[in-house]
Amino acid sequence: MFDPLKEEITPEILERWDKEYFWHPFTQMKVYREEDNLIFERGEGVYLYDLHGRKYIDAISSLWCNVHGHNHPRLNNALVKQLCKVAHTTTLGSSNVPAIILAKRLVDITPECLTKVFYSEDGAEANEIALKMAYHYFYNKGEKERKYFITLSNAYHGDTIGAVSVGGIEIFHEAYKPLLFKTFKLPSPYWYCKEKYGQLCEECKEDLLNLLKEILDKHHKEIIGITLESGIQAAAGMLPYPKGFMKGVEQLAKQYGVLLIVDEVATGFGRTGTMFYVEQEEVCPDFMTLGKGITGGYLPLAATLTTEEIFNAFLGEFGEAKHFYHGHTYTGNNLACAVAIENLNIFRDENTLSLLQPKIKHLTERLKEFWELPWVYDIRQLGFMAGIELRKKNGEPFPYGERIGFKVAYKAREKGVFLRPLGDVMVLMMPLVIKTEEMNYVLDTLKWAIKEVLQKED
Ligand code: PMP
Repeated sequence: MFDPLKEEITPEILERWDKEYFWHPFTQMKVYREEDNLIFERGEGVYLYDLHGRKYIDAISSLWCNVHGHNHPRLNNALVKQLCKVAHTTTLGSSNVPAIILAKRLVDITPECLTKVFYSEDGAEANEIALKMAYHYFYNKGEKERKYFITLSNAYHGDTIGAVSVGGIEIFHEAYKPLLFKTFKLPSPYWYCKEKYGQLCEECKEDLLNLLKEILDKHHKEIIGITLESGIQAAAGMLPYPKGFMKGVEQLAKQYGVLLIVDEVATGFGRTGTMFYVEQEEVCPDFMTLGKGITGGYLPLAATLTTEEIFNAFLGEFGEAKHFYHGHTYTGNNLACAVAIENLNIFRDENTLSLLQPKIKHLTERLKEFWELPWVYDIRQLGFMAGIELRKKNGEPFPYGERIGFKVAYKAREKGVFLRPLGDVMVLMMPLVIKTEEMNYVLDTLKWAIKEVLQKED
């Protein structure tokens, strides 16, 4: 028996305990337990260091949330400063200083129609809240026949039952089907356009909007709202929408009196080149959900922003029981909100978004080189988010069980680049502060890793 008072916890012990006690998320544990895995110990800027002191560039921003780099002195200070005051106080019926200030700051930087902030801890929950609030809004107004959402195939809004119900990635959803609520589904815009027109284009956008109009024409009286990711279906493998699609959806939602829920969990906080993608199409939704980069990648915090109109429908005397019945122990946590405020300060003080623009251009240029590789089936990019889809040379997908994407990612680790693919789509989602030479290193290594793995497979 291990005695913590007598023995040191060595890297070997940690590796053993990791496999013995820790059930990892979205991970096939049988395979995980058979492999050597990365156990990170510390970070600095865009670099992570494992238990053995090996250094890796974090090319996926620790699952798309790190913004200004790891171990950032200003974020650390903000956290410690708040920690020395108080770590957590409930926001159920009381308040705390950072949560108030952050709410005001978020309202200031998001589209004008969004004036209210409801906190939670993760992207999935921010979306659950939007779904519940949207339904409850109509319920409070006496429109109780509204029960359905219109959703998109290939959407990902998180892994809780409501978020899965409005999602559409087969592989994640298949097993839970009997538990999910019914939705009306539009095709996945990217694949629909690719199949019908070979590309994203104006005609395809119009087709998609006509399909949406058909559903609304028939069912709008029972529809609560439309849910969609902002600008790109990220978890489905970085699948952008045709330009103007979101604006068209917004117009139809208004015309038919249904609510628009836009998920900016992955795209928010600079990933697409603007603070939020909705800015690029001048969309103002009824709900906008935020997560991931909200704390610069430090702590679990998410938010659901909404309008005056929605908020007001929940106002009433206590006995009317119109209030929103949702809230968790850590909702609006003091530490997370304090760090989130400093995250916004850094965006402002360090000109993060203007410095990002040449990096986006550089990424676009360098991605073109990947077309040289015969296994590159598609390259997709929105701002600083990119995906390189790998297939067999004849264009057929690799069998799911072959884990080509993972094999490429593991190869890249040998040269100190940390990647996590989506199936066989190699995702590039680098921290916004990454330097050009570091980006080049990531791209060179990825190209090398693809060749190393696939030359052997072919
Ligand atoms: N929405 C989108 C668009 C996402 O990409 C994700 C996560 N990848 C989520 C929601 C879920 O966020 P979380 O993992 O924080 O629950």
